[in-house]
Amino acid sequence: MSIAGEKINPAAQTMETEPLSIEKSVDKRRAIVFKNRFKDKAGPGIPEKYLRKTPPNLPGMSELDVIRHFTRLSKLNYSVDSNFYPLGSCTMKYNPKINEDIAGFDEFANLHPLADDSSAQGTLEFLHRFEQMLIELCGMSAFTLQPAAGAHGEFTGIMIAKKYFKTNGAGQRNEIIIPDSAHGTNPATASMLGFNLINIKSGGDGRIDIQTLKNTLNRKTAVVMLTIPNTLGIFESGIESIVKISHEAGALVYMDGANFNALTGILKPGMLGIDIMHLNMHKTFSTPHGGGGPGAGAVGVGEKLKGFLPVPRIKQENGMYGLDFNLPDSIGRVKSFFGNTGVLLKAYSYLLMHSVQELAQIAENAVINANYVKENLARLYPPYSKERCMHECVLQPHPNLLKNGIRTIDIAKRLLDYGFYAPTIYFPLIVPEAIMIEPTETESKETLDKFIEAMKKIYQESVETPETVKNAPHTMPVKRLDEVEAARKPNLRW
Ligand SMILES: *Cc1c(COP(=O)(O)O)cnc(C)c1O
Repeated sequence: MSIAGEKINPAAQTMETEPLSIEKSVDKRRAIVFKNRFKDKAGPGIPEKYLRKTPPNLPGMSELDVIRHFTRLSKLNYSVDSNFYPLGSCTMKYNPKINEDIAGFDEFANLHPLADDSSAQGTLEFLHRFEQMLIELCGMSAFTLQPAAGAHGEFTGIMIAKKYFKTNGAGQRNEIIIPDSAHGTNPATASMLGFNLINIKSGGDGRIDIQTLKNTLNRKTAVVMLTIPNTLGIFESGIESIVKISHEAGALVYMDGANFNALTGILKPGMLGIDIMHLNMHKTFSTPHGGGGPGAGAVGVGEKLKGFLPVPRIKQENGMYGLDFNLPDSIGRVKSFFGNTGVLLKAYSYLLMHSVQELAQIAENAVINANYVKENLARLYPPYSKERCMHECVLQPHPNLLKNGIRTIDIAKRLLDYGFYAPTIYFPLIVPEAIMIEPTETESKETLDKFIEAMKKIYQESVETPETVKNAPHTMPVKRLDEVEAARKPNLRW
């Protein structure tokens, strides 16, 4: 099948044309028939009254039907393992398979969560070593590995700030300053913890205006919460002044480091005076991201906040590792047991495989790849900020496309026909019709060139045959959804 002479998604070419929702069940057809060994008796200890009188209402399918159905569904999945996944802010980089092997080691995977410290030495040791690595990498004084996600890390970090001010008799500090270029979870975290949000606008270059920040800081400011690099993919180059004036005003500085992929091995936030930060294992450190699976969001703090970290802390004494609950100022537990150790093990394996120099190279390549895509598309999809970007770039449709009624959603849908996952769209909110592309360092130049080529073709189609783009996707098993209807009346089963 081809559209306008173009080769389309190779996965789609092998797909059956039969609609997914067709009813396949045939009455009385069975894959397996269990002999009723207990026909006339109640079975081992099961009282007669609990025995089923009518057979279960299962779909009637042969084993082969079932296999074909699920194999077909599995082929409809899109993943980093199948193709390019340029979802901005999400860092959909390759997840090395060796991470999975290590996390699957019996000694880790089968450890009982209630095992006493002496039989959990291996797990405790890796958690301790991992904390030390993150301390070294980020220049912070201590890390906790408990939080289960980035947003959970923010929540933990801001709880620490809250307790810090309360303990130091500064409970009146109930405001958090957040620039409009921050990730959406930042304001959500601040408001869930009862802080008043003070939003500040970024300047034309996508950065915080230092004077605006200066005028906004006051004796009620608890935290200045920054996403670095911010959601425009821009580095806050005034960070040293930002930290200085925030500290002078008595506030703490929080760094959302979910996207540390651009900075690993290059920048130590602790050296900039950052007080609290979090890292997403499922972005920077190559653990799988998406699909609702578990994540992990380590939180690092500066010296004066160490005492507020969640308990238990992992301690090392006389060559033995153990859990320390004795931290009187601790905010308490934020996660059961040791956090998501399986995820942490994958991230730890990734760090073991790379020296700091290699991590710096990874960050540089992530930045180079994003700028390569940005520069090659700049003429047809103008970048929102003229600055050099970090690990991701934010583009907009050319006025020629808007004039033809083409919107970002149309471009995203058309990309699916070309076999690419769509970038993040309509985020950050401050950019109209935003197209946020994060290639990651694990993609080759050849892949990026193919993506750039597809984007250029979509531009051409939008000018010449805009209906092709407006009605996309043409090759997907599910065509364009009515998004309002889909949200209000989701059809979650058939
Ligand atoms: C992804 C992301 C988060 C949230 O992380 P989750 O693990 O999805 O909760 C927070 N901040 C930034 C900048 C992010 O990119």
